[in-house]
Amino acid sequence: MKIPLFNDRWLSVRTRLAQDGSSLVVISDITAMKQSEQSLKELADHMRGLAVTDGLTGLANRRCFDESLEAECRKASNTRAPLTLLLVDVDRFKAFNDHYGHQAGDQCLVEVGACLRNAARRAGDVVARYGGEEFAVILPNTTSEAALALAEAFRIELELRSIPHIASEFGVVTASVGIATFEPDAGHLPPGSLVKQADTSLYAAKAEGRNRVVARRAA
Ligand code: GH3
Ligand code: MG
Ligand code: MG
Repeated sequence: MKIPLFNDRWLSVRTRLAQDGSSLVVISDITAMKQSEQSLKELADHMRGLAVTDGLTGLANRRCFDESLEAECRKASNTRAPLTLLLVDVDRFKAFNDHYGHQAGDQCLVEVGACLRNAARRAGDVVARYGGEEFAVILPNTTSEAALALAEAFRIELELRSIPHIASEFGVVTASVGIATFEPDAGHLPPGSLVKQADTSLYAAKAEGRNRVVARRAA
């Protein structure tokens, strides 16, 4: 039996049967062993976190995104629930880096991530750094209309943060968002085609002037 004491120490209590039939109670201090167990557990948790987290923004990393999207596509196929994907790309970010420096660029990406987190708060939503200055948000059980409202809330929050960007036509940091939704009647959902569709929407958002949200229905 392992017994925690009030002062963070641990005792182990075991009974042994002696040859003369009497019982021997062995009490040992196992605090050091317990502490190493705890340190190992914390290290394992930390390593697990690193494997799925983007170091700069604290969001899900690309690997975590890929796995989550695959799982959500499978789930949506089975439950016939709508599934929406947002692809987000910071506008004129190369110019931002060139003018304000790479460190300011990194800080800007952290802020974009925070705005996305504020917008996608439902349990099950996955906000990820897709790569470079691109982000992706998986929204299970979310229709195109609901996602549009969410994406617009994100876009407006980022604009209102008023991060100066004099090399942009908007004067502040903005982002463009492409949306793709698999509706319940879509049948099998290949993750690749959802990404492709969201990318097409994002491309349209850029082409139509940036700092906007475009939604296309996935076939
Ligand atoms: P657009 O409006 O068409 O999206 O133009 P853009 O300049 O944002 O696009 P482009 O793809 O030309 O530039 C992306 C820039 O993002 C270039 C790259 O240096 C920068 N970038 C990518 N990853 C990081 C990062 O982790 N930190 C910083 N500071 N910059 C990054
Ligand atoms: Mg880009
Ligand atoms: Mg960009």
